[in-house]
Amino acid sequence: MDRSEEIANGMMERLAAIEHLRWSQWHLHSQSTWTPDRVDRWTDLATTLYENLSEELKEKDREEVRSYLPMIVSALRAARDEALEEAAKLLEKNCQCSFDGSLGCGGTCEDFQYSQSVRALKSDAGKP
Ligand SMILES: [Zn+2]
Repeated sequence: MDRSEEIANGMMERLAAIEHLRWSQWHLHSQSTWTPDRVDRWTDLATTLYENLSEELKEKDREEVRSYLPMIVSALRAARDEALEEAAKLLEKNCQCSFDGSLGCGGTCEDFQYSQSVRALKSDAGKP
């Protein structure tokens, strides 16, 4: 399993909680608005492929998906930040900057300068 799969698996419970909330809201709504006509309409919709839905109905599905997006964005940021930190550490290793906490090069070598530039790209860069 690679790191991306680990991150995705780590989101399972939070995604499942969103899905349960989405489903339960639908269930309560459908019970309160149940009519035979509506059930027929829902059955039609349930057997229609997404690509064949009207734009209006597609937008309803997109609206549901939007509740997942913040979690996905945060996972992508975390994965990106991890990769950037890994790259910064590799650069520091080249000049031994990070080994004993003291900069052998005084922080002036290109590797150290690049490592700082790479760290500045992290989404949490500059945050306390
Ligand atoms: Zn250095």
